[in-house]
Amino acid sequence: MRYTSIDKLNINGRIFYVKRDDLYDPHLSGNKFRKLHKLIQTPKENLHKIISYGGTQSNAMLAIAKLCFLKGWEFIYYTKPLSQHQKEQTDGNYLEALKFGMKHVELELENYKKQISDLRFNLDEKIYIVDQGGAVIDAKEGLGVLANEITEQLKDSDVKSLATPSGTGTTALFLAKSLPQYKVYTTPCVGDVEYLKTQMHSLVEELPENLVILEPRKKYHFAKLYPNFLELYNRLLKKGIEFDLLYAPGMFEALLDQTDEEILYIHSGGVSGNKTMLSRYENKFK
Ligand SMILES: *Cc1c(COP(=O)(O)O)cnc(C)c1O
Repeated sequence: MRYTSIDKLNINGRIFYVKRDDLYDPHLSGNKFRKLHKLIQTPKENLHKIISYGGTQSNAMLAIAKLCFLKGWEFIYYTKPLSQHQKEQTDGNYLEALKFGMKHVELELENYKKQISDLRFNLDEKIYIVDQGGAVIDAKEGLGVLANEITEQLKDSDVKSLATPSGTGTTALFLAKSLPQYKVYTTPCVGDVEYLKTQMHSLVEELPENLVILEPRKKYHFAKLYPNFLELYNRLLKKGIEFDLLYAPGMFEALLDQTDEEILYIHSGGVSGNKTMLSRYENKFK
């Protein structure tokens, strides 16, 4: 596979480099294709079914749906019951994923946790479970590939810092572990710093020293609407790169507030969810 390219971005006179992992595939984009690398490399005949669970606007869900479509694998996705609003949506990641053949199962709220943990029973070796958001140990492999690309691409550059936003923290964590010679900045976009650390500790015992978790400017709630996020999104878009509206604005805000060196930002994809987010912004702030 060819390396994803690196673009230059000038924001308020500051240079950012952006590794365009968003351009790999419109549905299987950003860190999701890195985290699913092992599955992408798996021959079709080795598996017949992928199981996952989580939110219905999830970028990981769409990425897995596209992957299963390409491989001819069955994809079953479990969620909590859908709201009326979600059922009435006419676009977005959920509908895209259904088009790729995803089978959606709504679980009752009361039994959700237990039923999710019961998914691990009755598996055979041709079924694979991807935990919510792709937070799996196997993600390490694809992030190792990303790390090698970065090392190669930055070998003649002075850039010594990387950045990528966190949901589960899988991407930032494994990137930092694979690249001890770089500082890796991240910030929690789901929950707070403590929550992010707990998530990371479910994958490794000790957090690497080169991983720097920046405190968000204020307490943000995941997928809520913030005018400053929209403003930052538009500012970046005007400079020529579209980022997602859930993770990237919080990360750029923290970087602009709290750092001043040249940074390689790893675009984590997720642009497919922007349509839904932009129509929510429009409805709320028109
Ligand atoms: C999933 C996702 C993240 C978070 O990745 P983690 O490895 O779970 O921390 C960040 N940005 C975008 C756009 C995503 O889709």
